[in-house]
Amino acid sequence: MLHEVHLQKYFMGRLNHGDDLLGVLTQTCQDLKISLGHIQAIGAVQKAVLGYYHQEQKSYHTIDLDQHLEIVQLTGNISLKDAVPFVHAHLTLSDPSGRTYGGHLFPGTLIFACEVFIHAVQGPTFERTLDATTGLPLWRVP
Ligand code: ZN
Repeated sequence: MLHEVHLQKYFMGRLNHGDDLLGVLTQTCQDLKISLGHIQAIGAVQKAVLGYYHQEQKSYHTIDLDQHLEIVQLTGNISLKDAVPFVHAHLTLSDPSGRTYGGHLFPGTLIFACEVFIHAVQGPTFERTLDATTGLPLWRVP
């Protein structure tokens, strides 16, 4: 089921070299009090940790990419989990040969350079709660 939301504000900026990408995105949304929205970014990372969710085991395994990579695309959303802004993001990264890797953004991904665009929207409360079917914290909207 989809819910109507309304564009509230746009934010643009550059993130700092060396910061943890997921950590700083989460902190930024918490500082700006953005509890609902969309994130996109491009740039490069010094190293990355991506996740892949095993649907049968209902658990993530992580993929450590200990190399310099381009952020071809980061796309994600902002909602609430445990009543605080929570970022869920996926990344496509490319290596020197142009080969790409992708997955769920995990902590441990370190920024080389990153330009971010955030759309904050207004709408109903999207709160993540555990979904028994998938084992994932999915949206529940009253
Ligand atoms: Zn994900």
